[in-house]
Amino acid sequence: MRKIGVLTSGGDSPGMNAAIRAVVRSAIYHDIKVVGIKKGYEGLINGDIEDMNLSSVADIIHRGGTILRTARSEEFKAERGFQKALNVISIFGIEGIVVIGGDGSFRGAEKLSQAGIKTIGLPGTIDNDLAYTDFTIGFDTAVNTVVNAISNIRDTSTSHGRANIIEVMGRHCGDIALYAGLAGGAESIIVPEVPFSIDDICKRLIQGRNRGKLHSIIILAEGVLKDSHEFAKQIEEKTGIETKLTILGHIQRGGSPTAFDRILASRMGGRAVELMMEDKTSRVLGIKGNEIIDMDISEALSIKKEINKNLYELAKILSI
Ligand code: ADP
Repeated sequence: MRKIGVLTSGGDSPGMNAAIRAVVRSAIYHDIKVVGIKKGYEGLINGDIEDMNLSSVADIIHRGGTILRTARSEEFKAERGFQKALNVISIFGIEGIVVIGGDGSFRGAEKLSQAGIKTIGLPGTIDNDLAYTDFTIGFDTAVNTVVNAISNIRDTSTSHGRANIIEVMGRHCGDIALYAGLAGGAESIIVPEVPFSIDDICKRLIQGRNRGKLHSIIILAEGVLKDSHEFAKQIEEKTGIETKLTILGHIQRGGSPTAFDRILASRMGGRAVELMMEDKTSRVLGIKGNEIIDMDISEALSIKKEINKNLYELAKILSI
């Protein structure tokens, strides 16, 4: 292996820079040339590619976002765009590509690998929606951001004796809501994977108030409800407790990555280069029981993500 490329694609996540750094530095350490492909598959189509050296990745381990930028590319999904990408790969003499992104980006990597390009995928998404790995790069940072927000909201919510609904990201996956809700001591956690009843939530709020509780936090995963504002109104009407809604939005996608995410990204980036050297490609990297694992891309994408039921039940027990 003489030359590899690295790209970040789809939604960004904190820790992507740490992953890029690990790929670049490990490759250089092993005498492999490495190029940075800008804006994901769009840059691959347009030849937006630059040589990376040790200093290209200096001073980035602590930064959120991605120095390579990211994009969504519809063109890449079409045959013409895909062929352009293959031409660029050949012109630049790129022998393997490390793709850092979510499930959509992995589908792109799968297609590249079916076309004979050596690919390795690193899970970069805050959503933790990839079933084959315990954690994705950026998830821990997003959870910590939400936990900090819960603390801030709890302070003011206590002063006013209010209930607060905090809507968090995660697309179709409830992991951010579940982990942040558990860590933040939320009274109720609403996730897409488990049906909920508004009456049950109201009952918990009323019981809490009757016990002298001054605040209540409800964590709501995005995508569960069409109208979260309407939901807050309904809760207020049913309980008589003033209920505020906070939609956290994109603050969850940014920020300096936690040590956990930096270490995860570094381990995966280093392993990606090893796998390239071992010619063990068409793989995605994950973490299981604190071991870095690799799995065939198609196999990994075929596993259905499920919520951790034990954790969900525990959060419920602890919030009585
Ligand atoms: P994420 O990687 O965060 O899930 P997307 O789903 O938007 O983000 O995917 C990122 C990019 O990956 C898309 O814009 C597209 O270029 C590429 N991609 C997604 N799905 C496919 C597919 N089925 N085939 C080829 N490329 C795909």
